[in-house]
Amino acid sequence: MDPRQVLIIGSGPAGFTAAVYAARANLQPLLFEGFGWGGQLMITSDVENYPGFSDGIQGPELMEAFRKQALRFGTEIVTEDVTRVDFSCRPFRVWTGEREHSARSVIVSTGAVARRIGIPGETEMTGKGLSYCATCDGFFFRGEEIVVIGGGDTALEEALFLSKFGSKVTVVHRRDQLRASKILQDRAFAHPKLSFVWDSVATGIAMDGDKLTGLNLRNVISGEESFLAAGGVFVAIGHDPATKIFEGQLDMDPQGYILTQAPASRTSVEGVFAGGDCVDHVYRQAVTAAGMGCAAAIDAERWLESVGH
Ligand code: NAP
Repeated sequence: MDPRQVLIIGSGPAGFTAAVYAARANLQPLLFEGFGWGGQLMITSDVENYPGFSDGIQGPELMEAFRKQALRFGTEIVTEDVTRVDFSCRPFRVWTGEREHSARSVIVSTGAVARRIGIPGETEMTGKGLSYCATCDGFFFRGEEIVVIGGGDTALEEALFLSKFGSKVTVVHRRDQLRASKILQDRAFAHPKLSFVWDSVATGIAMDGDKLTGLNLRNVISGEESFLAAGGVFVAIGHDPATKIFEGQLDMDPQGYILTQAPASRTSVEGVFAGGDCVDHVYRQAVTAAGMGCAAAIDAERWLESVGH
């Protein structure tokens, strides 16, 4: 089978935007969206900062619109996970399980996934009181005391969202200053159901049988150990790039973010471009990811032309 001109891996704002641009450039892109398509916005409720939606929009609704737009211009979308790639020679090869695909250029937009905290009880209690997604699981904790771990925008957004369900929401942060934006901090500090435990780290999930009962904490300044009773614990300590399948193929930084020659989206392999949260650990916004997806498609198109395709 002839190689595709452009193959896109990932289906968040970067991947679908790359698809819209590549399709409109008549490159007939093939996009692997993965079984859990849509990326992080699929587990986000209100998106209030995506330009053009003055009243806000629900995350999944926004991603449906991205997907529809990519389809409208002729993107072929395959709901499979890419399991392996070989970028060592051209055309590039990409596998979904046993099936092999080839492409002249590839756009990597695999995004990032929620970080695990790595404490005893975390694995056992995931899905049984411990969650990484307030939008998905908040509803299960009506009337309960809830803890959110983290001090960034995600932690505060989740805490504010969870205050609709929980009787009380406590944010546990390892420092005494939040990383979150000022507007969220103001909202959180003013909220009657929200309180904060500062300078503290979680040391273990407490449980009684398979029921989560709370969180063991240690104050990092005094060393004092304490227990915080809770029916639900939400971990919101950031994300890691979903780039494992590109190890040894593309240059990355020590955290696994793909290195590109900013502002262009060129990776260490000529003909492979990347954009979105798998590259960007600074802005990590839907709108910046979409912009990077657009840049990657334009770069891919220009590169294909320069090499005579
Ligand atoms: P983040 O900004 O990286 O914040 C992660 C938080 O978790 C930090 O407060 C960090 O503490 C803490 N943390 C990290 N590892 C930890 C550990 N092992 N134990 C305890 N605490 C730990 O991540 P994020 O909140 O997910 O946000 C990611 C990006 O998305 C940001 O750029 C953010 O602005 C953006 N975002 C924006 C919105 C919005 O605009 N509405 C909403 C959500 C996210 P330290 O502060 O001490 O490092």
